[in-house]
Amino acid sequence: MTTITLVQGDITRQSADAIVNAANSSLLGGGGVDGAIHRSGGPAILAECQALRASRYGKGLPTGQAVATTAGDLDARWVIHTVGPVYQASGSDPSLLASCYRESLRVADELGARTVAFPAISTGVYRWPMDDAARIAVETVRSTPTAVEEVRFVLFDERAYEAFAAQLR
Ligand code: ADP
Repeated sequence: MTTITLVQGDITRQSADAIVNAANSSLLGGGGVDGAIHRSGGPAILAECQALRASRYGKGLPTGQAVATTAGDLDARWVIHTVGPVYQASGSDPSLLASCYRESLRVADELGARTVAFPAISTGVYRWPMDDAARIAVETVRSTPTAVEEVRFVLFDERAYEAFAAQLR
């Protein structure tokens, strides 16, 4: 059984086995959660991301996939980087956003992580509407078989927290 918990706050301040990063496909850092994770986690994370680019992901990490690195100075063992889809009003594929959560949990299982903290993937610069993103996140975690015992959604502001809380009610 996986327990879903909600926290309002900064994901880089969380203690968990794995912290999920809403990365971009370059794996070389960006704004939002990505920037915060690299700033707080220190250079070890970027060094491993650069090595992954050189070895496995020369064209970047594809949208919907996930890969783990060290968590550097964060209070976690691993950072799981996943690339959310950019929302387009003309048509966006919810299965790609669901895939971020599913693939991150698959990687977490491979690592043996029991507690995993997720941000609200794609809801920042990638513009996915919060309520829909929260529904996809919660439904996907609920329907994905995993040995992860706690999935903690870490929501940056009250609006995001309320959107996820509504899905759990
Ligand atoms: P994306 O590119 O996938 O949209 P962003 O990092 O721009 O990713 O935003 C994803 C979500 O994470 C947004 O809801 C944003 O408010 C939130 N966010 C930004 N910084 C943090 C942080 N330090 N901890 C948790 N959530 C954060």
